[in-house]
Amino acid sequence: MTQIIRTSADLRDRVAAWKRSGILVGVVPTMGALHDGHMSLVREARKQSDRVIVTIFVNPMQFNNASDLDKYPRDEAHDLAMLEAEGVDVLFAPGVNEVYPDGFATKVSVSGISEPLEGAFRPGHFDGVATVVSKLFGMTQAGRAFFGEKDWQQLQVVRRLVEDLNIPIRIIGCPTIREPDGLAMSSRNVRLSEAERAQAPALHRIMTAAAEQIRAGAPIETALEQAKAEILAAGFHDIEYLEVRSVEGLRPMETFSEPGRMLVAAYLGDVRLIDNIAV
Ligand code: AMP
Repeated sequence: MTQIIRTSADLRDRVAAWKRSGILVGVVPTMGALHDGHMSLVREARKQSDRVIVTIFVNPMQFNNASDLDKYPRDEAHDLAMLEAEGVDVLFAPGVNEVYPDGFATKVSVSGISEPLEGAFRPGHFDGVATVVSKLFGMTQAGRAFFGEKDWQQLQVVRRLVEDLNIPIRIIGCPTIREPDGLAMSSRNVRLSEAERAQAPALHRIMTAAAEQIRAGAPIETALEQAKAEILAAGFHDIEYLEVRSVEGLRPMETFSEPGRMLVAAYLGDVRLIDNIAV
């Protein structure tokens, strides 16, 4: 049985009992609307920890766009069934007032790594992520936390945060889970129309081809320009960024001189999709 916990006080009691017996707690922070991508994190957490806590909290502080927050899919009953099936010990699903009670006044802000890409197009987003993740680490007292490479920059921001604040937790990055046609699984995919859903896999396909060209010696800028034109032709609009950056520091890369990461954000209809692959 997965126990549902709604308050940090109840969670503290639950975790304190575990910790007294030397149990290693793993946490998987999510915003719910769970899919197989999330479940791969849960399975990894089960392998690497004695008890697993999945958190579901649609964090208002990390949404820079009110309508994106309103439209974010929520289905706790469905999520709970998935967590039960994987043998998750605790679902921690606090309300907004529990996480941000009256008088809440602290913001955690990671500079540098959180400034380009998502940080440039979603002002304040990573402050919201860093703040809520710090709180979830404190509340769950977990020894390991599992994050998806799907949100590559977020993973790097969280690693920086944990190192800078000496938070005693190990961050485990897990590979992106894709639909059979290559589309990265995302809670936002349910908002794609049937026609958009059919167009969506072009993003990963075009990126993969561009990465191949760069590996074969094509200049990065040329390969990216061509890929952008193809992504637009495939039905996307407003490519916010399509870049190749260094893997961990996310420094701009003009020439292919070290392992890189190609990262994209683009709109299909009113759905904003992000993805990234190794180069
Ligand atoms: P979210 O609920 O979108 O905030 O995601 C919660 C966690 O699941 C984050 O660490 C994401 O990176 C991860 N995640 C989301 N989609 C995928 C995916 N397709 N494959 C692997 N991890 C994912």
